[in-house]
Amino acid sequence: MTRLVSRTNSPHQSGSSEKQLRIYNSLSKRKEQFVPLEPGKVRMYTCGLTVNYLMHIGHARTYIFWDVVERFLRYLDYEVTHVSNVTDISVDDNILKRVKASDQAFQQLVTRYTQDYYHDRHLLGVADPYTYAIATQHIQEMIELVQRLLDKGFAYEAKDGVYFRINVYPEYGKLAGIDPDALRIGAGGRIDMDEYDKESVGDFVLWKRAKPGEPFWHSPWGPGRPGWHIECSAMSAKYLGQTLDISGGGEDNIFPHHENSIAQSEAANGTTYVRYWMHVRHLQLGDEKMSKSTGNFLTVREALEQYNVAALRLFLLSTHYRKPLMFKDTAIQQSQRQLDRFRQVLSRLQAIKEGKVKLSQAEKQILGSIKETKQSFESALLDDFNTGRAINHLIRFVNLIHSFLDTQNNITTETVQELLAFFESVGSVLFGDLYTREIQLKADPVVSKLVELLLQEREQYRHQQQYQQADRIRTILSELGFEITDTKSGTQWWIKSKS
Ligand SMILES: [Zn+2]
Repeated sequence: MTRLVSRTNSPHQSGSSEKQLRIYNSLSKRKEQFVPLEPGKVRMYTCGLTVNYLMHIGHARTYIFWDVVERFLRYLDYEVTHVSNVTDISVDDNILKRVKASDQAFQQLVTRYTQDYYHDRHLLGVADPYTYAIATQHIQEMIELVQRLLDKGFAYEAKDGVYFRINVYPEYGKLAGIDPDALRIGAGGRIDMDEYDKESVGDFVLWKRAKPGEPFWHSPWGPGRPGWHIECSAMSAKYLGQTLDISGGGEDNIFPHHENSIAQSEAANGTTYVRYWMHVRHLQLGDEKMSKSTGNFLTVREALEQYNVAALRLFLLSTHYRKPLMFKDTAIQQSQRQLDRFRQVLSRLQAIKEGKVKLSQAEKQILGSIKETKQSFESALLDDFNTGRAINHLIRFVNLIHSFLDTQNNITTETVQELLAFFESVGSVLFGDLYTREIQLKADPVVSKLVELLLQEREQYRHQQQYQQADRIRTILSELGFEITDTKSGTQWWIKSKS
């Protein structure tokens, strides 16, 4: 649950030719070189959860991905300010429906699910953003923005609320590739106009007047609540300014949410709202996409009853974020095996004591491979955050070190330190807070001492050919969660994975 702190003292390298980040922009529909508005700084806003239920693993894919984006930008020495919202009113009628269906009061329900949301993010190793922008705490900013849109003629007041008028904003539809004419009345729109008081089908609500029994806030247009889209435009401007470098969410957010956010912000401010739009594809469960509205979903908590959290995170990053991903047991098992191997290699490295002084030829090759792997890892992520490719490079290297440790009699302390530092820097980008919590498992010094003593005993027994006794020690250690292997360079041990 750490908050990422900007490293402002290290040189900003993103300008160097070998580290050019390219991002697929959902607005231009092509990969573009990433150039932030202000050199060295990134203003990032992501759409968080509507807190009407627990987070499902489709959401987890998106939030874990943003975590990797933020961490990799910091890895490149950008100073990142990341703001993410919590939709705790929404005007989201679904919250109101759920309130009606349960006995809980509105505030109790959203408070509970907001806490659950933070908790589940921490479980997944996702860092807290610079700010969680809570919608109900920014009603005043939303009212001011709606007023500005009314003053500029982009909005109008109707009987049941205030609406954005899309036909006076000519760029409407540019993100989703939608023809605004198709949304107008008489053009076969799907929306039943009897339900609304708006002028045109495509117009969307900025402020909704409250019906009896609904939660409300006072406004110049009477008691009511803001429309869903207005919160992101108002809150992102408050914390990050009128133009953001990166923004996005799940692909479902493209239309109408982000299309409407662009219209509101750009109409009100007269300037570009977001320079790079990014959208994560959905997660597929069975034959359908995972979605709260259809009921086809698995919560993060349910998934964690079956799978280790680091294995789940690795699996969710195993496919590039713009490709659909199928939630499959066999694929998660494979991630689990990769994870076990990674932990094993780290423990073996940590257990190596002072090595010999002379650098062997094989060891020199390993040092060269660190450099190559670092480059491949970086170039994968620089290419529109291709996490799947980055993971493949990392795992290939983990396997190489595993075989290397099997065959080497000795290894210098410098190489061990260099390997551990490398694994930590790339592992922390992919695994986030889980790297120290779940991957680089370190035994308590007293425990290590006891394990070492037992292993010396075992060695004595083996020396005296009392194999039964020696095996008994091995069994005891195994039952306590320590794995033992005998290699050319002596007996090594590590903490077994928790599954
Ligand atoms: Zn949003």
